[in-house]
Amino acid sequence: MYICLECNTVFENPKPLTETHGLTSPPYEVLYVCPACKGTNYKPQEIKYCHCCGARLNASRKRYCSTACENKGEKLRRQEQKRYKFLRESYIYKVVREVEEYNRRNNTRLSYGQYVALVMNVKKGKRKNVKG
Ligand SMILES: [Zn+2]
Ligand SMILES: [Zn+2]
Repeated sequence: MYICLECNTVFENPKPLTETHGLTSPPYEVLYVCPACKGTNYKPQEIKYCHCCGARLNASRKRYCSTACENKGEKLRRQEQKRYKFLRESYIYKVVREVEEYNRRNNTRLSYGQYVALVMNVKKGKRKNVKG
């Protein structure tokens, strides 16, 4: 697939165009041109697929093949983002509560970062012990 940079036409293959330069017999020069405007200013076009249904996209489309797919796809994407945000926030919330509890029990004043580092070290240490 190619896209013409002059007229934005997308075409499968450039069209051979014989340029005779006024000669009456071969060899003629053969140019490969855009079938629409006969320009030579075109480039290979990467083929994209709809993020929703997987249909091949034409050049004017970026992510989705149709408005219906776009609506559906964007809705799914928003739902994913929301779910991810929720999970992340609830995870942080859970750890923050753990930190508070840990500080209370051990009479320490660890920050969130210090606590996470500590927990990670403990886990690493455990793993080592199991192996050794
Ligand atoms: Zn063209
Ligand atoms: Zn689609």
